[in-house]
Amino acid sequence: MEVKILSAKFDIKDAHMLEVAKQHGAYSQLDKLFSMEPVAVIEEVKNSGLRGRGGAGFPAGLKWSFLPKGLNKPVYLTVNSDESEPATFKDRYILVRDPHMMIEGIIICCYAIGCHDAYIYIRGEYTSQVKALQKAIDEAYAAGYLGEKVAGHDFKLDVTVHRGAGAYICGEETALLESIEGKKGQPRSKPPFPAVEGLYGCPTIINNVQTIASLPYIIENGAAAYKQYGTEKSPGTHLFGISGHVNKPGMYELPLGLPILDVIEKVAGGVLNGKKLKAIIPGGSSTPVQTPEDAKDLTLDYESMAAHKTMFGSGGIVVLDETVDIVKLVENLAQFYHHESCGQCTPCREGLGWILKIVKKILRGDGTSADIDLLVELCDNIEMKTVCVLSAACTMPVRSYLIKFRHEFEAYVKKGASAQANVKQG
Ligand code: SF4
Repeated sequence: MEVKILSAKFDIKDAHMLEVAKQHGAYSQLDKLFSMEPVAVIEEVKNSGLRGRGGAGFPAGLKWSFLPKGLNKPVYLTVNSDESEPATFKDRYILVRDPHMMIEGIIICCYAIGCHDAYIYIRGEYTSQVKALQKAIDEAYAAGYLGEKVAGHDFKLDVTVHRGAGAYICGEETALLESIEGKKGQPRSKPPFPAVEGLYGCPTIINNVQTIASLPYIIENGAAAYKQYGTEKSPGTHLFGISGHVNKPGMYELPLGLPILDVIEKVAGGVLNGKKLKAIIPGGSSTPVQTPEDAKDLTLDYESMAAHKTMFGSGGIVVLDETVDIVKLVENLAQFYHHESCGQCTPCREGLGWILKIVKKILRGDGTSADIDLLVELCDNIEMKTVCVLSAACTMPVRSYLIKFRHEFEAYVKKGASAQANVKQG
């Protein structure tokens, strides 16, 4: 099932070093790139059907084509490397094992969109990844792949690494821009969208690490070759991080469109210790949960996920076995998102805290069935009433657990009620 496009060099010793990367094809597409018109590069990427790999799945080439023409302003690219979604660990592989693939992708994107200053916004906690990335960038400058004349061509490009300070919300594209500008990392209201008014008020494209790293393959082999993998609407491959209760957790590159249960069984070795599968988080902590019954015909592509009322997300699949306490899981989830709220919208700042308090009350044995209904109501009232989607990243999965595993919440309520009745009788 596995395919080696993005991960082709992951197992090659020292492939993060320029000399080794070059022996395996790094930067070999630049002459071809510069022989093409920028608009032809955008067309090729559009035709490949490559979709943003950060979670939203928006077509990359189409996003680039939204840049306004004829403005007398610089255009920026920012690569989103703020990989912070719980259960997501794909971009770190690229940053450490094949950073030159991403740098070549940055050159391709910048040439296509007319950008001469690119930024890589990297998660603050990624200390070894920052070092590896900066080393690769320094090597690329020294070899003339970055700087005044990229690979000897009449094209200037500078790349700056900007390190975050540990806020999950800075993975949201406009909070990321605020952070690069030296401000508090809080999302902006949209519109205007970054393609029109982004970094320093200039047109800006924001793409995920994996999206950018997919570009050298597309330029080398063409859109048709890329589309031979995946489905018609979700073409290509994706790096899936599979974690939780499986025998072989890890990062796997797979074509999109495979049945999720097959992947868990055949790629990740099945549920750990032969236990029963209880649930699957399909694409990182913010995606609504799937039961084994839901997942019977669920495939790993954007359309199937939407049809199952969940999301493809970041490709971080978490497998939960029968021993998992769903109410405690929800407490953990609510704790995370409440802590990461930037605080500028009341429904998010206060509402996520209320969700956490009520879940804790139920866990303590003080909850009632009305509290479970109240949690659902809270989720309905918070969602889509805020500046960004962090609040929904909490309420969407929480609601899915409340609906699909209500009996586990009721069990806590019942246990608490009988314990209190015993105390009174005693
Ligand atoms: Fe900040 Fe939450 Fe509002 Fe997003 S939804 S802007 S994280 S308060």
